[in-house]
Amino acid sequence: MAKQAKNAISPTRSEDFPEWYQQVVREADLAENSETRGCMVIKPWGYGIWENIQHQLDQYFKRTGHQNAYFPLLIPLSYLEKEAEHAEGFATECAVVTHHRLEAQKQEDGSTKMIPTGELTEPYVIRPTSETIIGAAFARWTESYRDLPLLINQWANVMRWEMRTRLFLRTAEFLWQEGHTAHETKEEAIEETRMIHGVYEDFLRDHLAIPVIPGEKSEAERFPGADMTLTVEAMVQDKKAIQAGTSHFLGQNFSKAQDISFTGRDGSVQHAWTTSWGVSTRLIGTLIMTHSDDDGFVAPPRIATQQIVIIPVTPKEDTRDAIIDACEALAKTLRAKQFHGEYLRVHVDKRDIRGGDKKWEWVKKGAPVRIEIGPRDLENRKVCMQRRDQDAFDKSFLDKEEFIQNIENTLQEIQDNLLQKATEFRDANISECSELNEFETYWDQDQPGWLLTPWAGTTEEEETLSKKHKITIRCLPLDKQDGDVAPCILTGKPTKTRAIWGRSY
Ligand code: AMP
Repeated sequence: MAKQAKNAISPTRSEDFPEWYQQVVREADLAENSETRGCMVIKPWGYGIWENIQHQLDQYFKRTGHQNAYFPLLIPLSYLEKEAEHAEGFATECAVVTHHRLEAQKQEDGSTKMIPTGELTEPYVIRPTSETIIGAAFARWTESYRDLPLLINQWANVMRWEMRTRLFLRTAEFLWQEGHTAHETKEEAIEETRMIHGVYEDFLRDHLAIPVIPGEKSEAERFPGADMTLTVEAMVQDKKAIQAGTSHFLGQNFSKAQDISFTGRDGSVQHAWTTSWGVSTRLIGTLIMTHSDDDGFVAPPRIATQQIVIIPVTPKEDTRDAIIDACEALAKTLRAKQFHGEYLRVHVDKRDIRGGDKKWEWVKKGAPVRIEIGPRDLENRKVCMQRRDQDAFDKSFLDKEEFIQNIENTLQEIQDNLLQKATEFRDANISECSELNEFETYWDQDQPGWLLTPWAGTTEEEETLSKKHKITIRCLPLDKQDGDVAPCILTGKPTKTRAIWGRSY
């Protein structure tokens, strides 16, 4: 097999992390930039991951009592005006539909220009998020406490006119799920917000092999119109943070603005308590930045588009058909087996291209397990297995039956290895800090990690530190809020609150 220079991706992570990321996305054939500003084309190898995220996460939502529904893409402008803070928060990112017709105008040079006409009396906003339009439906659906809770999720695309975009991580149009719920009591709504936060944490850890820090956003970083925003924060390999998912407790802010009211158990008219929560195609960007290496993408088996790629090695014409048949037969056997309740996703790559090129293509695409079968393997009933969590040149020759028997364990081992590696990396790059001097100089280094500090500052004080060091409070980590009282890193005020600071995407 043709040997290749060790790193299939140039530049490497340590040379130029952002450019390495672009190259991994390209070389793994996951997505590409499109003609439409800030929007991407998600290619089949990337979209397959989204499909797996969708149906796996959907099961968590269904198991916790939610139902899917679908609401309009276009939101009447007046709906957005109802909740002032929400409207202001999204004002600078809205694409607005103002016309509903095109008129053909012949030009002097013979070409045709299409001119928008038919101006709408009320413009529509392309949903940047759907609280307002789903809230309007909730208002129609709630009369009595018996109609609650409403537990709705929508899988959809949204549009936010982002100025600085990056494939998957921040695009103008993105795919996501948005959960929207309405409850009779405040406690119930807070419980829902926390429960979904836990679902996101579990899903990222167990399916994407991404360990996150779950916590609450500071007031400055809260969702516009929310009383509390919970977040799961992931650390990627340049030690930056990614807000991978959020769950918002909206209090009665939206229900009052939109009149989501009901007759309570005591006969009085009350406003519902609402929540909203979402994860997006940003998860795929987070996944790439967490696990990939200088040879390309590394897909955790649970969400990989294909988990096993079988490559027939056919040097001689006379054994070619027999080898291809053996590969197809192996694929068929494997496809009848399951991993975490899903049939194995197996691909046989029969393309007529050089073996070495083929191998490196699948390395770059991050297929968890690669299997080669050649003439000698066929004779000996063996397979040659290579794992994406191991060196690209490592091989093991296994008895075919043994390989089939063990495949679930092998996939789980890869999944566990990726999670362990990411967890160790994250833990090695979060430090506690209680001295302001130390805190201020920490951010001068090239790739700073995250700092955990006692914090009792105001929003203004937070902004001052944020601007000065190009950092933000990523979250107030849930499991660190009930320790000892310590002086706030900035103000010296005694506090139990702990904040995690870091740079982010
Ligand atoms: P939000 O409604 O602002 O809380 O957003 C929900 C989730 O969507 C966030 O936690 C992000 O993970 C993700 N998200 C927000 N903006 C973008 C974007 N421009 N591109 C991709 N994902 C996004």
